[in-house]
Amino acid sequence: MKKYLEVCDKCEREFEWSNEGDVWPGGKDRENITCPYCGNVTGSKITSGYIAIHTHQCRYCGSMLIPDEGGADRRGTIRYECSAADCYGVFFSENGGPIITSEERCRSAGPICDNCGRSLRGGSFTPKWSEGNNPDDSIKCPHCRHINYLWE
Ligand SMILES: [Zn+2]
Ligand SMILES: [Zn+2]
Ligand SMILES: [Zn+2]
Repeated sequence: MKKYLEVCDKCEREFEWSNEGDVWPGGKDRENITCPYCGNVTGSKITSGYIAIHTHQCRYCGSMLIPDEGGADRRGTIRYECSAADCYGVFFSENGGPIITSEERCRSAGPICDNCGRSLRGGSFTPKWSEGNNPDDSIKCPHCRHINYLWE
């Protein structure tokens, strides 16, 4: 069944919905599309089936994940928290990508510049001893040109 993306106009979180069940001409009712996070009714559809809401699930316990209010931040990252009170699952999605754990996110972002805090991806790498007097690998930050030494 085709899924539609909906952005809640109250909490600005995104979710998906689909029109499920017995969809046939006749016997139609107006079904509400309700935000699963704040309960706001964002729209409705006239259908003989029903509206199913799709949310992401916690990889640890299977409960619903709740994205941060306001949707993605400036870098396009959405942070999700598990809705179960006894689970501390926290997940991220970058630029519409898959939902990953914070460990996976650190691994994909790689090292961060000591000076400006941005990713060192794309910086120029200098292997240790390549210049005779540098006992550590280093990466020059592509954003601020700060030399970051990589300790093992
Ligand atoms: Zn909402
Ligand atoms: Zn959980
Ligand atoms: Zn930097």
